Amino acid sequence: MNSYDVAVIGGGPIGAVAARYAAATGARTLLVDQGDGSCEPACCAGLVSPRTPSLLGISSTGLLREIHGAIIHSPTGKQTEILSKKVKAIVLDRSALNRELVKLAAQAGVEVRHHTRAAITDQAKLQLSEQNRQYEAKARVVIGADGPRSMVASRFSLPSPPRFLAAVQATIVREARASDMVEIFFGTKIAPGFFAWAVPAKQEQLRVGLAATQGTDVNTLLNNLLSQHFPGQVISYVGGIIPVGTAAKTTTDGALIVGDAAGQVKPTSGGGIYTGGLCAKIAGEIAGYASLAEKTTNETLKEYEHRWQDKIGKELRFGLLAHRAFCGLSDAEIEAALAIINQPSILQAITEYGDIDYPSMLVSSLLSRQDLWPRLLSLIPALGGWEKFGNLAQLVISLEQPGRGREPKKQ
Ligand SMILES: Cc1cc2nc3c(=O)[nH]c(=O)nc-3n(C[C@H](O)[C@H](O)[C@H](O)COP(=O)(O)OP(=O)(O)OC[C@H]3O[C@@H](n4cnc5c(N)ncnc54)[C@H](O)[C@@H]3O)c2cc1C
Repeated sequence: MNSYDVAVIGGGPIGAVAARYAAATGARTLLVDQGDGSCEPACCAGLVSPRTPSLLGISSTGLLREIHGAIIHSPTGKQTEILSKKVKAIVLDRSALNRELVKLAAQAGVEVRHHTRAAITDQAKLQLSEQNRQYEAKARVVIGADGPRSMVASRFSLPSPPRFLAAVQATIVREARASDMVEIFFGTKIAPGFFAWAVPAKQEQLRVGLAATQGTDVNTLLNNLLSQHFPGQVISYVGGIIPVGTAAKTTTDGALIVGDAAGQVKPTSGGGIYTGGLCAKIAGEIAGYASLAEKTTNETLKEYEHRWQDKIGKELRFGLLAHRAFCGLSDAEIEAALAIINQPSILQAITEYGDIDYPSMLVSSLLSRQDLWPRLLSLIPALGGWEKFGNLAQLVISLEQPGRGREPKKQ
């Protein structure tokens, strides 16, 4: 039976980063994925902040588009354009991203096994199944990077993220209305509890998708959106779930969870590549050092949880409050809020301070602008009154204090 210091289950973007960082400590590391390493067809729009490639240590080969702004559609179809001179986001070729991250892991010394499904036996051993053979392996630390329905979390009795959204996306043949802008659609008849999107991808390809409260018929909603706004040949359909909120505990004796498995996803956008990547580097390092020191109990591994919480915990909690405040809005309230935002002074502030990884920075920047206070005050009733708005403001203020859990780097 092969023995490893660290075994990473799930070779998506987050598992590949965690494995690379574990191997960099000198730990003998295994990365197992049931797919072929491309994650195709990817259940992801590939939209990330411009800071993400340097965080992940990748080249620009998979870069498809630079995004400067967004066209926002209200529930009744009114449009608001937000356009910046700066690049606000980029679109990546998701399979190129995955392949590059796995290649970097292999170059760092990780043993990569594709087309291999992992299970965990009662004795915390790994049961690995390839097409024609089954075998066992041992690891001092198991990292669960196996997505939102994590087998590793459940086998090690770690909690799952508290809530999920249902999501679906089609890639269609169609040029975007503007090649450097995304489109966002709000409304309870379009995507109840979240929003729909259209993201320009490869030349003459659009990724059109939506996420909504679980139990919603997202396929019908997507077909409605496609026929109303984006007629065109469908190349592929994918469906998935998006965690909302982080798992209450992400480490235990001999195991930790990271990425979607731990709910390390921005509740305001559903994006998990940046936040998961940030946490994966810490996960790999802590797992590597702990296994080499043969100190693999929760006492040592919980340092991972302290460190990721310190980097991004408060920002994710802010996002969750913002998500909850937004989810409860009626179409009339969304319409009213968008009408208030659709003013040159506010749009200009959003263009300047908006950051898809750190939405709280926009709120704290807006709050610091006294000239905007009259408009912001008129937003309060639309956003659910003082109770919800006050909670958000309190959290933004707490983010300014030491140990913030919010660490934006330059874009
Ligand atoms: C429709 C949609 C659009 C999205 N768009 C964006 C976006 O634009 N930007 C963004 O940042 N995020 C986006 N996300 C979220 C993003 O895709 C995830 O946060 C990200 O993929 C999480 O990566 P991960 O490695 O944690 O999990 P995953 O990407 O889910 O990878 C988990 C891997 O584990 C493997 N696996 C699972 N179980 C086993 C097992 N037992 N044995 C072996 N292998 C196993 C799976 O095959 C898979 O390859 C989107 C999500 C959805 C659903």
